Amino acid sequence: MEKELKLIVKWNGKEYEVDALSDNDSIGTLKDIIFKKTGVRPERQKLLNLKFKGKLPENDCLLASLNLKSGFKVMMMGSLEEAILDANTVPTDLPEVIDDFDIEDGEEVAIEHKDIYLAKVDRRIKEYTIKVLNPPRPGKKLLVLDIDYTLFDHRSVAEKGYELMRPYLHEFLTAAYKDYDIVIWSATSMKWIEEKMKLLGVSAHSDYKIAFYLDYLAMISVHTPKYGVIQVKPLGVIWGKFPDEYNSKNTIMFDDIRRNFLMNPQNGLKIRPFKQAHLNRGTDRELLRLSRYLEAISSLDDLSQLNHRHWEKYLSNRRKEMKRQRRRENNSGNGRGSKEEEPEEESSSRDSNNST
Ligand SMILES: [Mg+2]
Repeated sequence: MEKELKLIVKWNGKEYEVDALSDNDSIGTLKDIIFKKTGVRPERQKLLNLKFKGKLPENDCLLASLNLKSGFKVMMMGSLEEAILDANTVPTDLPEVIDDFDIEDGEEVAIEHKDIYLAKVDRRIKEYTIKVLNPPRPGKKLLVLDIDYTLFDHRSVAEKGYELMRPYLHEFLTAAYKDYDIVIWSATSMKWIEEKMKLLGVSAHSDYKIAFYLDYLAMISVHTPKYGVIQVKPLGVIWGKFPDEYNSKNTIMFDDIRRNFLMNPQNGLKIRPFKQAHLNRGTDRELLRLSRYLEAISSLDDLSQLNHRHWEKYLSNRRKEMKRQRRRENNSGNGRGSKEEEPEEESSSRDSNNST
């Protein structure tokens, strides 16, 4: 006779009740229900204390054969790493679901100076606590980085976190660190930011240091006529916290979503999103090229005078200028123009991942 069965699944410090089971259900069915409740994919679930003939039961094994009492606690392992990488797991403490739209030209200007938003920024400056990991270094500029789709493909699944890491991440951060203090700002909770940075090996790297992390609590909501209320990352929070170190002239922010720098359009650079890591891992050179841009502009007095939309053009113009310069030097040196054409540095990798 079919018997009703209620199980408790313990995972990641929380308990999930799984009822409406019968002992005619299989392990596979149980795993599907656990997936719906926790977001941990069935193939990643390890149900530690379920044993059939001394082994972990296969998916077609019926619960009846395990002789479980109703209320039995199943210990599940799905490491945090896997949880982070799992496409269906999102932090539960996010303020709201953010749709995948973006801000068009011109829309950003009106919002930047609105008093009500500046008042919100002031409140963040007063109330948000920044845990400084590494203090600002004198004379350095500031680079603020988003995580998801900027440094990390958070929606793909992989065995190991670094498989989803954007190529050249550590090289990029190492190079940027020479001229810039580095801040990570992600629209998620601090716990997740810390875990991700640990996972990627960013938090304890020997060649660069992160100044601090900011989470969604440092963001503010603004109203746009077109999209309604959205969450943005106002750099004014950082500038207010560190008035002697950072300002609109020495700060640049990378994010794959333009609306995140709605309050500071002149300081934002929209990076091509890094998605489908498995397909694009081999070809994505965005960070490598952006590290050249950062280096190229690092000696400028006012970064906000640049139009970061044209960062690639800036780089190619600079390359051309350097080439001309070298040719002039060659000509004056030996009276003979150098005919050799240098190979063009990798041209833009628009092919792979510009699908937003
Ligand atoms: Mg992002």
